[in-house]
Amino acid sequence: MSFVFDPPGIPSLPIHASDARFPMHRIYCIGRNYAEHAKEMGSEPTSRENPVFFMKPADAIVPEGGDIPYPSATRDLHHEVEMVVALGKGGRDIDAGHALDCVFGYGVGLDLTRRDLQAAMKAKGLPWDVAKGFDHSAPVSALHTVEEMGHPQHARLTLTVNGEPRQDSDIGEMIFPVAEIIAELSKLFELKPGDLVFTGTPAGVGPLRRGDRLHAELQGIARLEGRIV
Ligand code: MN
Repeated sequence: MSFVFDPPGIPSLPIHASDARFPMHRIYCIGRNYAEHAKEMGSEPTSRENPVFFMKPADAIVPEGGDIPYPSATRDLHHEVEMVVALGKGGRDIDAGHALDCVFGYGVGLDLTRRDLQAAMKAKGLPWDVAKGFDHSAPVSALHTVEEMGHPQHARLTLTVNGEPRQDSDIGEMIFPVAEIIAELSKLFELKPGDLVFTGTPAGVGPLRRGDRLHAELQGIARLEGRIV
C-alpha cells in the first residue's frame, strides 16, 4: 500500500491594492457579540465575564467569495455577516490598550452556520463544531490594511441576499470591541500572525438557498460578493 501526499499549502487572502497575499494561521470567532442577535437566538447577550469563542479550520476560507457550495447534512444553512480582523502580530496576555497594534487589516466575511445542527447541539449541551467548522464555511473579502484605513470604530455592516436587505447594523454596536476580543482571546490562545477573528453578527440572520446571491459590505471599507451553488 502506498500513499501519495499532496500537501494543500497554506490558505491565504488577497490584500487590497497589493500583489501580496495574507497567509493564514487560524480562524477564531466570537458569538453573541451584538445584543439584538443574541435576543433573536433566544440567548442572553455575551456577558462581560464570559465571551463565547469558537473556531473554524483555516481551510474553511473562501477567498473573495465567489461560489459557495451548499453544505451537506443541513436543511437550514444560515448567513451571519461579520467584520473580520486580520492579525499581523500575535502574543499571549495582550493588554487591551495595545491590542490594536496587532491588527494588520480588516475585511468583511460570512460565518456560515448549519443552524439546525447548532440548535441540536445547543439543546444537548454539545460542541458546535459540526455547525460552524464545515468546509467553505468562511467566505472573506480581500483585506484592507490599517495603513490604508486606520481602525474603524463605526461602520455600517450590511448583507443583502438577491438584492433584499437581511442584516444592517453598525460595528459600534459590538459588546466586545476589537481590542477587547483580541485581549480575551490571548488569555486562551497564543495568537499568531495570520490569525483571523470573526467579530460576531448583528440581528437578521436567516436561511440561504442554492442560487442565492450575497452582497456583504462593511461600508467604506470592504465588500464581498458570493453565490450559493
Ligand atoms: Mn457568528
